[in-house]
Amino acid sequence: MTQKEICDHIHRHGLRVSKQRVAIYQYMTNPFHPSAEMIYEALRDKVSSLSLATVYNCLHDFVKAGLAKELRIENEMVRYDADISAHGHFKCKSCSRVFDIPVDVQKIRECLSEKNREIEHISLVAYGICEDCLANGSRGNA
Ligand SMILES: [Zn+2]
Ligand SMILES: [Zn+2]
Repeated sequence: MTQKEICDHIHRHGLRVSKQRVAIYQYMTNPFHPSAEMIYEALRDKVSSLSLATVYNCLHDFVKAGLAKELRIENEMVRYDADISAHGHFKCKSCSRVFDIPVDVQKIRECLSEKNREIEHISLVAYGICEDCLANGSRGNA
């Protein structure tokens, strides 16, 4: 997404566009699903007067406005996802990055509706070692 597209996207969801929001949204679209702390660490030197509290507030506004989804993996800190559609995740135990993986949401819905069960939300996480860590020979200490 370009800077302009991000501004429009934020604006369309009813939020005021600010430099901080644009930077945070942009970082959130990276494919590793950062936590608030990771976003803060990455942006603190680039965005003036950014605090961890600002990052938290901003992410909270994004979630409320439907611009982001919280991703809870076991008892880890919350990660943030700019893709709000239902999909699965792959967590690398070595580098802690989280990647998107496809899940057959249609099939899950069909299967559950046949049994007359109602879905509220789908969360599917696979765990393992990512391609980069495998290539580096670091299987972590897991
Ligand atoms: Zn990895
Ligand atoms: Zn995702």
